[in-house]
Amino acid sequence: MSGVLPAERLTIVIAAFDEARSLPLLHPRIAMVMDAMAGDGIAAGVLYVDDGSADGTWEVLQGLAAGDRRVSLLRLSRNFGKEIALTAGLDLVTEGAAMILDADGQDPPELIPRFVALWRQGYDDVHGTRVSREGERWTKKLTAHLFYRVMQRLAKTPVPADTGDYRLLSPRALAALRQLRERHRFMKGLFGWIGFNRVSLPYERNARLAGRTKFGFWRLWNFALEGVTSFSTAPLRLATYVGVFTALGAFAFALWVIAKAMLFGDRVAGWPTMMAVILFLGGVQLVALGVIGEYLGRLYEESKQRPLYFVRDWHPAGQGAPVGAPAADASRIAGA
Ligand code: UDP
Ligand code: MG
Repeated sequence: MSGVLPAERLTIVIAAFDEARSLPLLHPRIAMVMDAMAGDGIAAGVLYVDDGSADGTWEVLQGLAAGDRRVSLLRLSRNFGKEIALTAGLDLVTEGAAMILDADGQDPPELIPRFVALWRQGYDDVHGTRVSREGERWTKKLTAHLFYRVMQRLAKTPVPADTGDYRLLSPRALAALRQLRERHRFMKGLFGWIGFNRVSLPYERNARLAGRTKFGFWRLWNFALEGVTSFSTAPLRLATYVGVFTALGAFAFALWVIAKAMLFGDRVAGWPTMMAVILFLGGVQLVALGVIGEYLGRLYEESKQRPLYFVRDWHPAGQGAPVGAPAADASRIAGA
């Protein structure tokens, strides 16, 4: 559908966790882009989601909102993690398209008009694909590279390589996304799962404006586990295959042991072989149990049916000095 909506609205959704030093550098750049787009018939606004920051990010955001009527602010009751913070932000975009951006300036806001141009051509999910990543260690680049390759192998859902959350979602893609209420949210996978017209836009990823990444090795590892378990049951199947092959091997081995005993008698030897087999099987069983446990644990968390997040403060755009009780609307859980 190449439908151009009459008055096009775009909300730039930014999840921020302890970004008090980056945001004052980033917002003026976004404001310039919004000014430029206004001349092009796009009414743009920014929605900052404070994901339970403890470094004065909320005060910085209040300052930004006081100086710019296009800024809305949402503050979650605690740190829920980027995926949930983004969900909370996207839940509030009920009109027009949404553009997701990192708060640290790694995704250059200056490229937003190019995302919008592709949206106007009829694409629903315009995602930025990194052709380079400045200021990141080779270990991160390597693990990221491996992760995307493994995901593409394991999952049936398309997870484009080297593509993060920097993207524009059309109104119907947003409406679809809002209906996915799972607790374990691997957003990159969810974006792919909803389908529609997708296109990638190559860009150079900058270094952070300030501060440090919150995704260290351990968090990335858990993130990767989340991705695999949310979008693939291949590890469970792998356990089956390992079981089948070990059983076959064990059967052949048993035949050999019996034949040997019949031909040469049984002299109670083979203690080392026995130990090796027992330990090997024990190890395999524990690994398989662990894999099942990963899935079972997620099932348990989903079954509790808790809301995804709670809102502490909500400050819609267009009000000068922000304070505010959370609007009933903001804490609503769509589709739940
Ligand atoms: N972020 C968040 N909640 C968290 C961790 C991170 O909202 O618990 C935000 C963070 O403020 C930033 C974005 O997610 O805007 C990406 O985080 P970061 O730059 O640390 O990750 P990286 O770019 O290194 O993958
Ligand atoms: Mg970053």
